[in-house]
Amino acid sequence: MKTILSTITITLMAAATASAAFNAAEFPPLNAVPPTNTPQVQEWLKAINLADVPVFPIHTGNPPACPAIATIPADQCWRSCQSCRGDDIVTCPTPGVWGLTFDDGPTTFTPQLLTTLKENKVKATFFVMGTNVVQNPTILKQEFDEGHHLASHTWSHHPLTTLTNEQIVAELKWTEKAVFDITGMQMKYVRPPYGDIDNRVRAIVKKLGYIIVDWTSDVFDSKDFSLNATPTEANLAAAVTAFTASMTAYGANPGAKGIITLEHDLYQVTVDFAKRLLPVAASAKLKIQAIDDCLGDKLPYQNSKASVNNGTTGGNGTSTGKPSDNKSSAASSIGTKVVMTVSLAVIAAALSAF
Ligand SMILES: [Zn+2]
Repeated sequence: MKTILSTITITLMAAATASAAFNAAEFPPLNAVPPTNTPQVQEWLKAINLADVPVFPIHTGNPPACPAIATIPADQCWRSCQSCRGDDIVTCPTPGVWGLTFDDGPTTFTPQLLTTLKENKVKATFFVMGTNVVQNPTILKQEFDEGHHLASHTWSHHPLTTLTNEQIVAELKWTEKAVFDITGMQMKYVRPPYGDIDNRVRAIVKKLGYIIVDWTSDVFDSKDFSLNATPTEANLAAAVTAFTASMTAYGANPGAKGIITLEHDLYQVTVDFAKRLLPVAASAKLKIQAIDDCLGDKLPYQNSKASVNNGTTGGNGTSTGKPSDNKSSAASSIGTKVVMTVSLAVIAAALSAF
């Protein structure tokens, strides 16, 4: 009986640590900065000390307008107006590596991109918007299940230097919760919308456990989203040709670091752009990697656990979130149901034996 009770305890603990089921109705209005006076945001704010966050002016405009450079404190390190990148990650460490990233999804166009990535046997990092995650939970789960790396791009895509400390927390935590409720993983990397960040914003996102990732330089910003205004074949072909030239030039002289590019899984034309650009990896001799892989991060989520495959039974239901481990993610909502079903069956069988 003692053995059975311990089995029951372990099983119930595994179920309790699994993620909550995703419920779109729990989340704030789409495409708007979430209110900060709600019980959920107040609870998140209680768990973080914002008292020592540096004080800098909250900017205005979307994107924010730059005041006279001389009026900006040097230690603000505001990327948008001072071209200051602080300790943000802007390269992959290995020359010849192409850090492949897509922002602003998931959207209904994303599955086409996933098919292309699968055909090319490459993984990418998706910097996802909370607003789009809650509208496309199945596509988000597909990204994760197919081994891609999920990272945050905030809830509503507002420039973070224009928001209050509390609004920044709400933007990040709602997005984090959406991805957690769908995949069981707590994101660890963030890309600020428009790359707009200063030392106030950096301090807050770091307190929430995030690492900041940008793209290498304007040369590696595809500006693919601008094609959507006039998505003609001629414009698409010209954009692919121009970006191919940049990638080929890098491949010919990779220097000391790998690069991180910026693309978007936002429109049909941006997905078409990505499909046509991928072959340049082979011709320019570049190795495509998601950001976690290019950085050698084996624990790419805040709640990643080193996977243990020592042959013992009764695993702990945790996951590294790495591609090879995603299929065993018992933390997903689907996985939760399986764990619960099996648990109840085991308990019933055990008790019926007495
Ligand atoms: Zn974006």
